[in-house]
Amino acid sequence: MKDIEGKTFDVIVIGSGPAGFTAALYAARADLKPLVFEGPEPGGQLMQTTDVDNFPGYPEGVMGPKMMDDFREQAKRFGADCRYGFVNNIEFGELPYKLTVDEETTVFANSIIIATGASAKWLGIESEQKLRGKGVSACATCDGAFFRNEHVVIVGGGDTAMEEATFLTKFASKVSVIHRREELRASKAMQNRAFNNEKIEFIWNSELVEVLGDKVVEGVKIKNTETEEESVLDDVTGVFIAIGHKPNTDLFKDVLTMDDVGYIQTKGQSTETDLPGIFASGDAMDPIYRQAVTAAGTGCRAALDAERFLAEAESEEAIAQSHWK
Ligand code: NAP
Repeated sequence: MKDIEGKTFDVIVIGSGPAGFTAALYAARADLKPLVFEGPEPGGQLMQTTDVDNFPGYPEGVMGPKMMDDFREQAKRFGADCRYGFVNNIEFGELPYKLTVDEETTVFANSIIIATGASAKWLGIESEQKLRGKGVSACATCDGAFFRNEHVVIVGGGDTAMEEATFLTKFASKVSVIHRREELRASKAMQNRAFNNEKIEFIWNSELVEVLGDKVVEGVKIKNTETEEESVLDDVTGVFIAIGHKPNTDLFKDVLTMDDVGYIQTKGQSTETDLPGIFASGDAMDPIYRQAVTAAGTGCRAALDAERFLAEAESEEAIAQSHWK
């Protein structure tokens, strides 16, 4: 990163999912030479997906990681500078904004596009964290194949839980869905698919209170939320958590307006935030649609907004410097 130390960029994109790379593509094509910091999960959530069948332009579908490689290559083709790097801090006091990357590199930005995405939520119980990666996972598409002919549980009642439960039946002998209520949040179509799958059973009104096992998962303890009764499923070897996502917006906490969950709020139809030259895109600002294609759309909008902002800032500066002012 030494080559960029102390330099100022017109556009710095933080994040590298569909929103970040689309913003980079548009900014690069506008000759703004964007710098992209790809963050802790380069490529974002799609790196943990297998087939993507709902992104237009891929009639046969595409693997998530392949699609993100394509996104990156397309942005690079027009000059986007994509780097592994984690933005630790931003000084929001004045333009250009000062960013610290990987705790050692300082760069300045005339505009910033936030595309930091979202991450899976966890239950927050100790045993879940202890056995993470040892049978506990938040990504069925990444880890499902490890549980061939085994009994797994999945926690959650939304579309993700239903989709992942159905996916897991490709491998597991039995999938138990543990849901804290007796009604699912998932869409009717997803519900019906799961209800009609004979490998899926539902454990209603129940919470996962402990994942059993020391080095690997050796069962789960669940509690009925109505009777408070606890029981153990001792043949379970895999635990999947599918209880939603949290936007990765901690860097902007107390600086930009967010909703209760942490989604950055933007102004009207635009991607503008509370601060001049800072634009938000993708899952970091979208609590509703959260699709690759909608994220890409907001990334495009953020780049166009940044381009307009920079053009206006430049003309204001030109007027300020002219003797006509
Ligand atoms: P979600 O809709 O927010 O559902 C989260 C589920 O987890 C809910 O059933 C919730 O229970 C449960 N939950 C939350 N916190 C919990 C906790 N601490 N303990 C136990 N259970 C907890 O999240 P999602 O399923 O990830 O879906 C997110 C968005 O993506 C939705 O808009 C969804 O439609 C969309 N999506 C679409 C597709 C598709 O169309 N192919 C696939 C996946 C996701 P309650 O119901 O009791 O609140």
